[in-house]
Amino acid sequence: MGQAAILTVDDDPSVSRAIARDLRRRYGDRYRIVRASSGAEALEVLRELKLRGGRVAVMLADYRMPQMNGIEFLEEAMDLFPFARRALLTAYADTDAAIQAINVVDVDHYLLKPWDPPEEKLYPVLDSLLDAWQATGDREQPDIRVVGHRWSEPSFQIRDFLARNLVPYRYFGADEPEGRRLLEAAEAGPEAVPLVVTADGRALSRPTVQEVARAAGLSTDPGRDFYDLIIVGGGPAGLGAAVYGGSEGLKTLLIERQAVGGQAGQSSRIENYLGFPDGISGAQLTDRARRQADKFAAETLTTREVVGLRTDGSARTLTFADGGEVSAHAVVLATGVSYRPLLADGVAGLTGSGVFYGSAATEGPACAGTDVYIVGGANSAGQAALFFSRYARRVTLLVRGDSLEASMSYYLIQQLAQVENIEVRTRCEVIGAQGTGHLQAITVCDSKNGTKATVECGYLFVFIGAEPRTDWLGDTVLRDDRGFVRTGPDLLVGGERPRGWDRDRDPFYLESSVPGIFAAGDVRASSVKRVASAVGEGAMAVALVHRYLEGR
Ligand SMILES: Cc1cc2nc3c(=O)[nH]c(=O)nc-3n(C[C@H](O)[C@H](O)[C@H](O)COP(=O)(O)OP(=O)(O)OC[C@H]3O[C@@H](n4cnc5c(N)ncnc54)[C@H](O)[C@@H]3O)c2cc1C
Repeated sequence: MGQAAILTVDDDPSVSRAIARDLRRRYGDRYRIVRASSGAEALEVLRELKLRGGRVAVMLADYRMPQMNGIEFLEEAMDLFPFARRALLTAYADTDAAIQAINVVDVDHYLLKPWDPPEEKLYPVLDSLLDAWQATGDREQPDIRVVGHRWSEPSFQIRDFLARNLVPYRYFGADEPEGRRLLEAAEAGPEAVPLVVTADGRALSRPTVQEVARAAGLSTDPGRDFYDLIIVGGGPAGLGAAVYGGSEGLKTLLIERQAVGGQAGQSSRIENYLGFPDGISGAQLTDRARRQADKFAAETLTTREVVGLRTDGSARTLTFADGGEVSAHAVVLATGVSYRPLLADGVAGLTGSGVFYGSAATEGPACAGTDVYIVGGANSAGQAALFFSRYARRVTLLVRGDSLEASMSYYLIQQLAQVENIEVRTRCEVIGAQGTGHLQAITVCDSKNGTKATVECGYLFVFIGAEPRTDWLGDTVLRDDRGFVRTGPDLLVGGERPRGWDRDRDPFYLESSVPGIFAAGDVRASSVKRVASAVGEGAMAVALVHRYLEGR
């Protein structure tokens, strides 16, 4: 296979020459540097590359170009090379416009002109884009193929799992020619769907998510029996703790029951995380954090749910749902929160078949031209509305409250107002869902005028608040009446330490009622429910683990 390309597009010949020269100097021995002087010319180059089976690692486009600007170009280029990393080159005066536009396409970085010295301003960005592209291999040739049914919950689970873990795969409907060919090759009938065909040609009929994880090369079993630190939950708090634990030399294990990234991994664009003025998608943030944890040798397991925790002398032992145990000196609980179910008639039976909790980004393209309904009034619902408005004919946000102001950030409300195909309906609730095999209609109650109406609806995305799923902790650690884990000063009632506390010090700030067991992020009582605070608490928990280990 030939060298992968780094493509630059700039209509200004002197800028175009200069950037190609700088790129060639640093990357010319490993990558083909290709330059084009307009979006149309660059698309032509990409089409040729595609036909010749070429690969593109990075596309760097100037923002301000006549006819087709950089954003428009990248949007079209994504259809040809969806996994190439994307960067936008802007003049300082254009940054605001570029940032606004970046919300439309998933751009990894924007670079300011001039980029001198390149060692400081260009190469670090390109290095990180190329590392990211290389870490995931050549995504143009995904090895895993999935044959499924559009409206089947098990098919959705597998696609969602692969997408959230950023594992490249190709999906074929069981009724498409290629889907039928794969089923035939596997000597399997329609009952074998979903069928997963692995890189080495094994056909897995109706596999569990854990079997799919193994087939995708994701680790599901711990490499040792005992660790310095085990983190339960792979959202921002858990990933933060894993990066700090690993980087500070602790033998660290992160256990995640589904896919790393947690709630943040489902966010189409996080705009308030420090250091990303143009926002970052949850998938990108997760990808970077996971690679950072790997770099520091923190082990990560996916598809393993923890269902028990006990103290064995100085050891803290965790039990997996499918049996097996693993122990450590210290544990950080970072299990976050999960969506509350929507308790309306018919909804439970259609979950995964048109009704989805969270964004389910895999469904974006399938929503093309349909009417999408979103339930919820918080930022997560607002982000989802913006995301699906790129595909759907119409997006209706159903909000139970009187207005969005009380529950959604101002910047999101402003953005929603600017998108033509988004409608916000307040004081509205879904009271029923109907459909045979998949969602076809919902019944909406509008309390402003007391009406009930049944409307056609193929997709319903639910974002109605969340709760910690911590029942499995039982009485091991103290929780508040909603199930959030109490820590530090929260545990001192009238100056008294919690019952059973056996140290001559107060619990550390993020320490639970059991020494050596900490909580970080959304699962912690009184925590701020934000990505930045979750990451911060993950890091802080590791500092406190060190103090705990020193004082044992
Ligand atoms: C769609 C959406 C958009 C958002 N946008 C923003 C935003 O723009 N800005 C912002 O600051 N915040 C945003 N938030 C909130 C933010 O994502 C959360 O505050 C943050 O993710 C909390 O991180 P966490 O690690 O504490 O928990 P989570 O992200 O909830 O992660 C917890 C993880 O633990 C795993 N887990 C749970 N139980 C177990 C178990 N027993 N065994 C193993 N694993 C387990 C879960 O599968 C999950 O992956 C958004 C949330 C959503 C849902």
